[in-house]
Amino acid sequence: NSIFSKGKPAANRVKNEIKELVSKRVNLGNRPPGLGVIIVGENPASQAYVRNKVRSCAEVGFKSLLIELPVHVPESMLLEHIYGLNLDNTIDGILVQQPLPTHINEFNITMAILPEKDVDGFHPVNVGKLSLGRLNDTHVSCTPLGIIELLSHYSIDISGKHAVIVGRSNIVGKPLASLLLQKKPFLNATVTMCHSNTKDISYFTKQADILIAAIGIPYFIKMPMIKRGSVIVDVGINRVDDALSNTGFKLVGDVDFGEVSREAFAITPVPGGVGLMTIAMLLRNTFNAYIKKL
Ligand code: NAD
Repeated sequence: NSIFSKGKPAANRVKNEIKELVSKRVNLGNRPPGLGVIIVGENPASQAYVRNKVRSCAEVGFKSLLIELPVHVPESMLLEHIYGLNLDNTIDGILVQQPLPTHINEFNITMAILPEKDVDGFHPVNVGKLSLGRLNDTHVSCTPLGIIELLSHYSIDISGKHAVIVGRSNIVGKPLASLLLQKKPFLNATVTMCHSNTKDISYFTKQADILIAAIGIPYFIKMPMIKRGSVIVDVGINRVDDALSNTGFKLVGDVDFGEVSREAFAITPVPGGVGLMTIAMLLRNTFNAYIKKL
């Protein structure tokens, strides 16, 4: 009998908190927080993410500035837009939606954003500060933050637990490992990382008290791979064909939800789980940047 750890109540709690804080500041005569969002090209998944982010900004009273650039835009022009947002005093956070077309060097783009406006937490200065445990002085990547917030919302204890992460990306797996390892009362996990070259992944996943799947392969985690009574966090967002849907596809996670949910203590659904938390944390990072600037 697993708890279905839906993202909505947890994300709404965070959003309502932010909305109230923003309205207090604005009522005092301050400008609202501002988020600059840049999207390059017309990848439908990226467009959907960006639409959600812009809509969420409006919901909590942020100003958002959406810059849409054609797929062939030169890197130099994208950089010019970033420099403009860096200088804009009404913009607290800057986000460049990934993936970028292959002619653009993602690292150059990440480096161009001022660390204090890097609300995605991708800049090396922010990654380094996370690694050093300076959590009050950095922006942490939104998905790992969202996972912690979700676990906390459902009173799932992390301290001393064995967290196994499958996936070592710079935006999910690695920053999540850094976060879970922090010597803080609510974190303090023992962390194991698995990836595409790990031999016998099941050996590790079966030992997980908390299993986090951030792989990008539909239904990768199956029931025999998990420990009964464990907590399963499904980060994956995969499009699979679905003849019954109007769009011709549906979104599924990296976990075979139907069977795993029967054995797990708690499991996050896809969609409606971690994804909602990611956006809520983007708003929180932007709000924190705004407060520091005020
Ligand atoms: P990525 O493609 O950068 O990395 C995938 C990771 O999975 C790699 O580290 C790789 O080592 C590992 N991997 C690949 N094949 C494997 C295998 N056979 N066995 C074990 N490990 C394997 O991915 P990412 O950006 O971290 O995203 C992962 C998934 O999470 C994607 O589906 C993505 O859409 C989703 N995602 C969701 C959110 C959200 O807010 N919910 C945010 C970011 C990413």
